[in-house]
Amino acid sequence: MDQRKPLIAGNWKMNLSIPEGITLARTLREELQGINTPNVLVAPPFTFLSSLWEIIKGSGILLGAQNMHWEDFGAFTGEISGKMLMEVGCTHVILGHSERRHVFRETDDMIDKKVKKAFELGLTPILCIGETLEEREAGKTFHILEKQLSCSLATIIEKASLPNDLILAYEPVWAIGTGRTATPQQAQEAHKFVREWIEENFGEKSAQDIRILYGGSVKPDNIASLMAMPDIDGALVGGASLKAESFLGIIRYEV
Ligand code: PEP
Repeated sequence: MDQRKPLIAGNWKMNLSIPEGITLARTLREELQGINTPNVLVAPPFTFLSSLWEIIKGSGILLGAQNMHWEDFGAFTGEISGKMLMEVGCTHVILGHSERRHVFRETDDMIDKKVKKAFELGLTPILCIGETLEEREAGKTFHILEKQLSCSLATIIEKASLPNDLILAYEPVWAIGTGRTATPQQAQEAHKFVREWIEENFGEKSAQDIRILYGGSVKPDNIASLMAMPDIDGALVGGASLKAESFLGIIRYEV
C-alpha cells in the first residue's frame, strides 16, 4: 500500500522582498489552517528565514533553505552552514538544484559532502537531479540520473543504508522556469527509474518509502495529472510558488 505522504515544496529562489515573503507566508498559514493537505514547505532566500520561521512555526508548514555548505564553521566567505540554518528553524535543505550545478558549477562531489553533512546534522536534504535537453535528446537521461544519484549519494552508498528521510526531486533542466513541463508519462518513466535505482542500492523498503518530487514548470493546471502517476510523490515548485493563489492551487490539487 502506498504510505508516502505527498510534499509540495516552494523554491522561492532569489525572489521577493522580506515584507512580500511575510505576507505570502501569512496567507499560506491562514489558508491551510485546519485543512488536511499534503506536507507543505517553503524555501525562501537566507535573509528571510528567521522572520518567516516566526510566522509559520506551529502551523505545520515546513521551512527549508536553498543551499548550504558542508562545513559547520570556518573561512568560507559568503557561505552558510547547515548548523546555522537549523538555528533559524530550517528542517530541510534543497541540495544540488540544477541552478547550483549549472550556474555555480557545483559538482557531484560537493553535493555528496553536503548530503552527508545534512544527515549528520539531522537536516533533511531534498536532493535534485535531472538531465539537460541535450542529454535527453541524445538518449542519455537514465545514464545522467544514474550518475548523479551514485555520485551525489556516494558516501551514503558506502554505508549501504539510506537515511529514511531523504527526499529526491527529479527536475529535468529543460522544464525549469521554461513553461515546458515534462508530460506525466515522461516524468513517471524517470521517477520509476529512480525508484528502481534506490531499490537496487538500498533495498525494497527504502524504495517504497522514499518520496520523489517532480519539478519543472508545475502549475495548478498540470499538478493533478502529474500526481496521478504512481511514482510521483509531490512537487518542487519555482515560479508558481511565489504567488499565494497559484501555490495554493497546486497544494489543493485533486487527482
Ligand atoms: C525549480 O526551481 O526547482 C523549479 C522547478 O522552477 P519552476 O517551477 O519555475 O520551473
